Amino acid sequence: MDTKLFSPPFSEEQFEEAAAIIRQGGLLGIPTETVYGLGADALNEDACRRIYEAKGRPQDNPLIIHIPDMSWLPRYCRDIPPAAYALARRFWPGPLTMILPKQDCVPMRTTGGLDTVGIRCPDHPVTLQIIRRAGVPVAAPSGNTSGRPSPTTAQHMVEDMWGKIDGIADGGACGVGVESTIIDLTCTPPRLLRPGGLPLEDLQQVLGEVVVDEAVTAEPEEGVKPKAPGMAYRHYAPKAPVTVISGDADAGARYILEHCDSTSGVICFHEYLPLFSNLVTYDLGHKDNKAEQAHAVFDALRAFDGTDVTHIFAQCPDSSGLGLAVENRLKKASGFHVIHV
Ligand code: AMP
Ligand code: MG
Repeated sequence: MDTKLFSPPFSEEQFEEAAAIIRQGGLLGIPTETVYGLGADALNEDACRRIYEAKGRPQDNPLIIHIPDMSWLPRYCRDIPPAAYALARRFWPGPLTMILPKQDCVPMRTTGGLDTVGIRCPDHPVTLQIIRRAGVPVAAPSGNTSGRPSPTTAQHMVEDMWGKIDGIADGGACGVGVESTIIDLTCTPPRLLRPGGLPLEDLQQVLGEVVVDEAVTAEPEEGVKPKAPGMAYRHYAPKAPVTVISGDADAGARYILEHCDSTSGVICFHEYLPLFSNLVTYDLGHKDNKAEQAHAVFDALRAFDGTDVTHIFAQCPDSSGLGLAVENRLKKASGFHVIHV
């Protein structure tokens, strides 16, 4: 299949052509503030089936649907609690997905067989424009091959999806860099299913008590069915195995120095780069700047694939603010191989 790359500046014709791909049941790589998505008409079962095929995604792992503003919420969700509107008013467009009971028009194919749907309004002008013009909600999981790190640039999407989808819209590097925060509003108290670009602390300000699902911080136990099906799968993994080093940053850097060899790769905080100048390194950002770390984490996890590195050590921030999302992505990429120093 020929894949068309749409590049800025976007003309009227390009927006129209990109929207037509969605309307006609095709697959389009779309930029968002979190990560790039693999978009299709959420109401078209065939189109959604092709998303699963292109990604190699398990059929029971549901898709998030994307809408251009809050007014579309009741078209696709029912029994919407006041808290959902309070969150949408405060945080949309933005990196927050809400789980709500679905309307009948949303196919089971889109929701992985669930009677709930994940819904959000992304904060990216190109994608908002494409969704509005398409006139349908856009189902979009992250645009990576299933199991790989999520794409945060159009180039990452080209690596995983070239020749498999109809088009990719290049909207630049994703500002946030980790996926949306997922909050389940079908239970009381609400439950955090995935930490992401909106910090838990911000959700707590609006919702009060929030339960953090065990799968956010711990390795899923065998045989236990997680609430968000996607939490069951190995995720975000580079080709080389990863060891995550958590705890005090100075002690972590010392641990890596003591345990690395000439074939090790190191993902470390900016301050420690000089320690590893003889190795292949990736700068995760300053140790106290979690926004930099979120922005960098997926590119870091892809960066070693073209090298001879046989093992990756990764420094990990504490879990406050965006740290919870960065920590979660690194730990999943390592298969929960974590050393606490
Ligand atoms: P991704 O598209 O790669 O960001 O993955 C979407 C995530 O949203 C997966 O972890 C899904 O399991 C989760 N998700 C989507 N819809 C639902 C839903 N109705 N209930 C629970 N989790 C959902
Ligand atoms: Mg994903």
